[in-house]
Amino acid sequence: MSADRARFLGAAGTPGGGPPPGPPEIAVAGRSNVGKSSLLNAFVGQRGLARISGTPGRTRQINFFLIEDRFVLVDLPGYGFAVGPEEERLAWGPLVEHYLAKRGTLRGALVLVDVRRGIEEDEEQLLAYLARLGIPAVVVATKADKLGRAPLRAAVAALERVLGESVPVVAFSARTGAGRPELWRVVTRWLAAASA
Ligand code: GDP
Repeated sequence: MSADRARFLGAAGTPGGGPPPGPPEIAVAGRSNVGKSSLLNAFVGQRGLARISGTPGRTRQINFFLIEDRFVLVDLPGYGFAVGPEEERLAWGPLVEHYLAKRGTLRGALVLVDVRRGIEEDEEQLLAYLARLGIPAVVVATKADKLGRAPLRAAVAALERVLGESVPVVAFSARTGAGRPELWRVVTRWLAAASA
């Protein structure tokens, strides 16, 4: 994908903020250091795309990127309950919950977990919330290259056992590109469902 296929549309710092709804949106969520920036850059094929999200002041906002003029990748802030001033921690919930619950153009969510850590309470809560809202989700097991073939298979199987059938697991590596075609297939399916 060429560099001009992705464009920063804007950010939401308060519930209901950000660019007006337009094309279908795919949300991307994960705790800090899970590999979200690397995934966004690798997925879109544009270095520096997610750098915008990582600049000071933007890490606790929701950042919107228009991709190929046809859908929007929505970079949700890291859960961040453990860091930052109290008022920022408290702001996280309403900001993200409002977005997930009210954004009519949201078509699906990628929930990132480090393949070596698995699902923790934050991810569990987010997945339960998405399920309640009827928003399809996929768990992306990041940094898949850090495990050998057999441990990777075991880690993915363990995730699948915890998640059940409603939430598929995709093993992904920004380093090797593993899982990128599968992720594109998921996103393309969600977008097709949106236009149906
Ligand atoms: P973010 O905080 O979630 O945006 O995480 P980053 O994308 O900045 O990545 C956090 C750290 O994990 C960095 O040191 C990355 O180089 C490393 N990382 C991210 N993705 C991968 C991956 O697929 N494989 C490996 N081996 N390291 C990764």
